Amino acid sequence: MKDYRFETECIHAGYKAESGQPQVLPIVQNTTYRYYNGEDVAKLFDLESADFMYSRLGSPTVSALEEKMAKLEGGTAGIATSAGQAANLITMLNICQCGDHIVSSSAIYGGTHNLFNVTLKKMGIETTFVDQDAPIEEIRKAFKPNTKALFAESLGNPALCVLDFEKFSTLAKEAGVPLVVDNTLASPYLCRPLEHGADIVTHSTTKWADGHATSVGGMVVEGGNFDWNKYADKFPGMVEPDESYHGLKFYEKFGNTAFCTKLRAQMLRDLGCTMSPMNAWLTFQGLDTLPLRMERHSENAYKLAKFLENHPKVDWVIYPGLEGNKHYELAKKYLPKGASGVLSFGVKGGRKAGEEFLENLELASIVVHVGDIRTSVLHPASTTHRQLSEEDQIKGGIRPELIRVSVGCESYEDIEADFAQALEKVK
Ligand SMILES: *Cc1c(COP(=O)(O)O)cnc(C)c1O
Repeated sequence: MKDYRFETECIHAGYKAESGQPQVLPIVQNTTYRYYNGEDVAKLFDLESADFMYSRLGSPTVSALEEKMAKLEGGTAGIATSAGQAANLITMLNICQCGDHIVSSSAIYGGTHNLFNVTLKKMGIETTFVDQDAPIEEIRKAFKPNTKALFAESLGNPALCVLDFEKFSTLAKEAGVPLVVDNTLASPYLCRPLEHGADIVTHSTTKWADGHATSVGGMVVEGGNFDWNKYADKFPGMVEPDESYHGLKFYEKFGNTAFCTKLRAQMLRDLGCTMSPMNAWLTFQGLDTLPLRMERHSENAYKLAKFLENHPKVDWVIYPGLEGNKHYELAKKYLPKGASGVLSFGVKGGRKAGEEFLENLELASIVVHVGDIRTSVLHPASTTHRQLSEEDQIKGGIRPELIRVSVGCESYEDIEADFAQALEKVK
C-alpha cells in the first residue's frame, strides 16, 4: 500500500475492504482455519507459510491491528499481546535467558519494575536500575559482559521523565544491545522511538491506543535495523538453529522481521499471551482517532497544568510540557506535538488535603488508569501505594500529597471548573 501521512494511516492502515466487503474491519471470532491437504498444514508448522493456523498464533482481526501499529511506529512488524505486561515480558524473554542481565531506567511503570525486579529475577535474569538523568559515564558503569538489553520509557509513568534518546541509543550501540522503549504514555502520534535510535518498541495498548478504557492489551513493534549477526555470541536465540523448528535460524531466514517471527513462533506458541479478536477490534477502532485525541489530551493537560501552577492551594505541578519543568527541553525535542495527557500535582496540606480534594471532584473519576477520554485521577498514597509507610512512599517518588491526573477530552472549561471547585472546598 502507498504511504500516507500519520493521520491518514491511523484511519486506513491495516485493513482495506475489497469490492462488496465490509467497509469496517470485521471481528473474526474463531480458533482455527480449514485446509484441504496435509502438505499445506505441514508448511504452517515449518514456518514456510504465514497463513493462519490456530488463533493462539495469530488471527485476521489481531493481524490487522499488528499491521496498523507497526505502520504507525514506522516498524517492520508487530505482535499483539494479551496485556502491556505480556509485551514487555515476551520482549525480554525473546532476548534474554537465565544468566543474562538487563539495564533499565528506574523511572518506569511500577508493573514493569516488578516484572524485572521480582519475576525475571526468579528466572535468573538480573536487572540493574539506573537514574536515566544521570551523566552517560555513570549509566555506562551498569553494563556488564552479560547485558543483553537496555530498557526505558519514552515518557515515564508516573514520574513523567522524558527519555534522552540520544544518550540511551549511544549507550545501547556501545554495548551492542537493543534499546527497548515502552512508548505507552507518548503514543506514536507524539513520539516515534524508532526514529530516535530505539530498536524495539513496546506498548500497553490499554492506555492511549485503545483510548476508551475498554480493552487490556499490548504490542511489540520491531524496528528491523538491529544486526543480530554482528553480536551473534550474545543472541544465540536469534542466530543459532532452533531445535523446535528443525534447526531453523530466525535472523537468517526472516531478516528484518526475525524478532517478531520468533516472538510469534516461540513466545505466543509456548506462553499463550495472545490478544483476543474483540480486544484487537476495539483497539483498532481506537487508533482511528489517536491524533485527534492526543492533540486534545495534550492541550487540556497543558492548560490544566498552567491553571494548577498558579493556584494558591497547589504546592507544585509536574508536567514536562510546562516551561520550567526539569524535562522541558527534552520534551520540546522529543515530544514536539504535545507532552501527552498525564500530569501530577500536590495540594497544600499533605495527604489529608489530597484525599479531601479527590472526594470533592464531580466530573473527574477516581480510577486506576490513564489514557481514557474521561478525566481520571488517583491519589497513590491512599490507594495503589497505601501499604507502604510514608517514608517508603517518598523513597519511591510518591509524595503523600501527590495526585496523578490523566486529563481527558472533555471541554477544558468543564475540567478546570471541576478542579477549581474541588480545590476551593479543601480546608
Ligand atoms: C499500564 C502500563 C503497562 C502495563 O500494561 P497493561 O496493559 O496494564 O498490562 C506497561 N507500561 C506502561 C508504561 C504502562 O503505563
